[in-house]
Amino acid sequence: MKQGIWPLLALLLLAPAWAADMPAQGDAEKERLRQMVKEVLREYAASLGPKHLNADARGLMQNLGQDNRNFMRTHKPAYFKPLVQGQRPRATVVTCADSRVHSHAFDATPDGDLFMVRNIGNQIATAEGSVEYGVNHLHTPVLLIIGHSACGAIQAAAGDYSAESGPIRNELDTLQVPKGEAGINSVLLNVHNQVKYAMAKFEPKVISGELIVVGAVYDFRDDLKQGQGKLAIVNVNGETDARKLAQLEIVQAMEQPAPRARRGATAY
Ligand SMILES: [Zn+2]
Repeated sequence: MKQGIWPLLALLLLAPAWAADMPAQGDAEKERLRQMVKEVLREYAASLGPKHLNADARGLMQNLGQDNRNFMRTHKPAYFKPLVQGQRPRATVVTCADSRVHSHAFDATPDGDLFMVRNIGNQIATAEGSVEYGVNHLHTPVLLIIGHSACGAIQAAAGDYSAESGPIRNELDTLQVPKGEAGINSVLLNVHNQVKYAMAKFEPKVISGELIVVGAVYDFRDDLKQGQGKLAIVNVNGETDARKLAQLEIVQAMEQPAPRARRGATAY
């Protein structure tokens, strides 16, 4: 399709007329024609030159390329060696896919250490296999579920989403929050729901102490008044009382300085 889009447009304009003229038995023929048009469109899309490229798309690819070159330059073989050998992450982490939520807010060196599962609404039901993989196959001792302030998925689930597509509706159906409650209370409720779901799902591991299920909120709007950007622990194995949480060793550990050498932070 290097010659341009005009032959394609002509085909698109003529195709419905041909299809309409066809007798009823021509359904297969219409379908064949539709597929032909789609194929031509695909070829055209693949031939798009730089002048068609969206400025944001171009900028993004430039950023990705530059950052990756920097990464390759600053990371030597010693950095990759343990990663090539395999992974032994310490946490399976379920977060929202929201672009404002990334692990660098709470882990400067997540490589090889956090098994990340992301989806809309930081939920288990729509990514159950991935969560099982982290907990049952990689044996992470922690399952960390992280909600966040200003979550669009929670806002959508608390409203009328009947006009959304089937796949999106399916992923909102599994977020159980009250209608009209789109704020931090529903974010918290969803985290608690996910912890409950996980505890039932992995009950033997939780009871034996092999797995701790932690619920948290990455609060970049300071809804919880603990500081902007705080990763606030709001649930540990079903415990949600703030005073009791503060007394738990696992929560107190977050306030202690970490040793310099950390897994996933191999010198490079
Ligand atoms: Zn979200």
